[in-house]
Formats: sequence, structure tokens, C-alpha cells
Amino acid sequence: MFDLTHAIYNDAEKARGHLEGIHWPNGPICPHCGNIDPARITKLEGKSTRPGVYKCNECRAPFSVTVRTVFERSKIGLHKWVLASHLMAASKKGMSAHQLHRMLGVTYKTAWFMAHRIREAMKEDIVETGGPLGGEGKTIEADETYWGRREDGYVSPQRKGQPYLKRKKPMKNAIVGLVERGGRTRTVHVKHATRDAVREILVTTADRNSTLYTDESNIYPITGKEFAAHGTVKHSAKEYARREGGVVVHSNTIDSVFSVFKRGMVGVYQHCGEAHLHRYLTEFDFRYNRRTALKISDAERAEDLLRMARDKRLTCRRIGEAKNA
Ligand SMILES: [Zn+2]
Repeated sequence: MFDLTHAIYNDAEKARGHLEGIHWPNGPICPHCGNIDPARITKLEGKSTRPGVYKCNECRAPFSVTVRTVFERSKIGLHKWVLASHLMAASKKGMSAHQLHRMLGVTYKTAWFMAHRIREAMKEDIVETGGPLGGEGKTIEADETYWGRREDGYVSPQRKGQPYLKRKKPMKNAIVGLVERGGRTRTVHVKHATRDAVREILVTTADRNSTLYTDESNIYPITGKEFAAHGTVKHSAKEYARREGGVVVHSNTIDSVFSVFKRGMVGVYQHCGEAHLHRYLTEFDFRYNRRTALKISDAERAEDLLRMARDKRLTCRRIGEAKNA
């Protein structure tokens, strides 16, 4: 379990050692040319050198374990990055920048940047890392949900004074979610959850030999035909699960994926602009796909995250641009 007094959360050099152990289990690797020959890599030591710097004798470039990771060129102590990563990997509903700011002793702004960089590390191409969701004999549930503030309907001048019809526009941001029962999930922010947009996500993320379960929405029947089988649940008739030839037709799994996300967003994150929604979805997917029920411990999840910090390109400038977008 978590022991916040552990040296890797309190000492930058211990944290570096931890990171080196994860990224270089067999010794340093030059990130510039891929050299792994220990005889051709020199550890630079001396008063004028920063700690943890190596020199590659092949390409002559210096490097450290943070080169090409989301921690690169950061002035924040590496132990704070390791602690923030562990906290975000372990907290089921996420951890706000306010709480990180208090726990790490950094400014709120710094905590906010750190959290977004860590979310960048959480990003993975789910098909590339574990193959498409589902497969023969497996079940995929798909559904869409909405997130964001509701906008009150516009009342035209002609309507003024007449009985007010309380009509609300749909919530701003559509989220399409897929989950393999007993397996992984992928949630995607889309502008509009149209039949084409949803089909694109389904066929690129899921194996079409799977059985697909959805609600009765008219988004799914045509795409559903491309799958091995397509079952629907009538949410409108309060039918949330039914037995059909020995199998239970329901979409409870995707409902619970959405519900963890929404509870986290309401309780922890509160403010989230459309530009950042996909980052939060990535964060919740990361944890769901490494959840305790899959026998993955907090420590293993955190290690995965530190390993995934490599080869992600997100600069402060890019986050800043997204913020202003
Ligand atoms: Zn090199």
C-alpha cells in the first residue's frame, strides 16, 4: 500500500533511481541513438554536473532518464512527479489540482500543469497496446452519454409573457463509451454522437466478431449488423436487463464506467472545459483498464504510469494553447 514517507516520494535522487529501475532494468539506454552498451555509456559525475546525467559515447550526447518523458526539462523535483503520479494512479475518482497543490507544496498553477502532463502519460492507443476490445465469444457494451453544463433554452421575444416552456438544450459534450465485459474500456469525446461518428469509434476500437449490446438508440442498428450479434435493452421501458436464450442482455458495465467518470468529475474536477475533456476521459480509462478487480495493485498501476511517461510529447505551450482554445 501507499507509504507517503517512502524515500522515492521525498528525495529527488531516490525518485530518479526508481524511475531508472523502471525504464532501464538492464542499465541505461541512450534515448538519442538507442545505444545500450554499458561500456559505451559514461555516468557523468562531478560538482559541475547535474545528478543523473550520462554521456553516450556513440552519439556523444548527454542524457538522463527523464529525456523524452513528460518529466523532461521540469524544474520540479522528480520525487514530486513520482508522488503526483502515484496519487493520480491510485485515486479512483481522480485528484484535483488543488489537492495536489496542497500535498506537493507547489503552486496551484504548477499542480495543474503536472496533472495534465501526467494525464498525457496515461494516454495509450488501446488497440496498439492490447488489441481491439472484445473478440469471438466476447461481449462489448456501447453507449453514449453527455457531459457539461446545460444551456437554458432560448426564449424568443414573441414567446415573452406566454406560459414558459421549460425546454433545455442537450448537454454540450457527447461521450461515446465502449467496454468489453470483464475487460478494458475506451471512452471518446465526440462533437456529436451521430451514427457515423459512433460507427467509426466502434469499428476501430472493437473486434467485430464480438457480440454488441447497446440501448435502443437508432445510432446502433446499422453498425450492429457488422458485429457477430447485436442485442438491445429498452431503457425507455425501464428494462435494464433481460434474459435472452441464457444470456443476460444489459448495459450495466458501460453505465458503471460512465458513473465513475461522472462522480469523479462532479466531486473532484468540477470545472472542465471542452478542450480538456478528452484528457479526463483518458485518465479514467487508464485507471479502469488497470482496476483492482483485474488484480492490479496501486503500486503496479503507478509503475505502469511512470513507464508510460516515455515518448509522449506534450509541452507547456501545447497545454496553454488548449487552455485558451
Ligand atoms: Zn547515443
